[in-house]
Amino acid sequence: MNRMPALFVSHGAPTLVLDDVPARAFLARVGGEIGRPTAIVVVSAHYEAPIVRVDRSASPRTIHDIGGFAPALYEIQYPAPGDPTLAEEIVALVRGAGLAAEADTGWGLDHGAWVPLSLMYPDAGIPVVAVSIDPAAGPAHHRTLGAALAPLRERGVLVVGSGSFTHNLHEIPRPFRNIDTPAPDWVHEFAEWASSAIVDGRQDDLLDYRRRAPHGVRNHPTEEHFLPLFVALGAGGGGAGRRLHDSTTFAVLRMDAYAFG
Ligand code: ZN
Repeated sequence: MNRMPALFVSHGAPTLVLDDVPARAFLARVGGEIGRPTAIVVVSAHYEAPIVRVDRSASPRTIHDIGGFAPALYEIQYPAPGDPTLAEEIVALVRGAGLAAEADTGWGLDHGAWVPLSLMYPDAGIPVVAVSIDPAAGPAHHRTLGAALAPLRERGVLVVGSGSFTHNLHEIPRPFRNIDTPAPDWVHEFAEWASSAIVDGRQDDLLDYRRRAPHGVRNHPTEEHFLPLFVALGAGGGGAGRRLHDSTTFAVLRMDAYAFG
């Protein structure tokens, strides 16, 4: 079985599954490029908890945690099986890394999970285990969480952090319809800084992005959509990453994706 990289992907707006844009084409392609994992651990910006929760559902439900979108989106199901045994193992790994963790039966696959996974592996045949983030815990905590998951990659498990490379929803140009609007300078400058820091392996800069990056706080007024990046970074072994994709939707959502390890 193949050793898997760890990925960070940007899931964008839930409509990404319907919109014909480069980020969707990338996600539809990347699953085939990296190969088929034995299981997927998805760490979504939309699964938030004050300790690390690991969904041990045998059949995770598809959560339509979205509002005001086209009816077609609410009909999407991603009926991948869960993996309770793997979930329990992840709880033990995370505790072993010194973080509080518990199994959860009340979650499933939110749109941060099903948007990218339904494009990457549309047959929904690979077991998926969802792991939460803590929006208040900061980058270093999430790198530690990722590092706890790193051994799973040797068994062909794919760790996917799903967030958004930039994510200031307050500054989406209104009306909310022009998906092709290019990024303004403050988005572009942040994204290119962060991309260079990833590719050059400048982890100290990344961990302190809110102070060191140009427009760091403006691009992430709250941290939850950037924290899955640090999970992927930790799961990949902590070295430099590779940029797999970059594009922009709705001016302020950079859709970059990175591979680690
Ligand atoms: Zn999101």
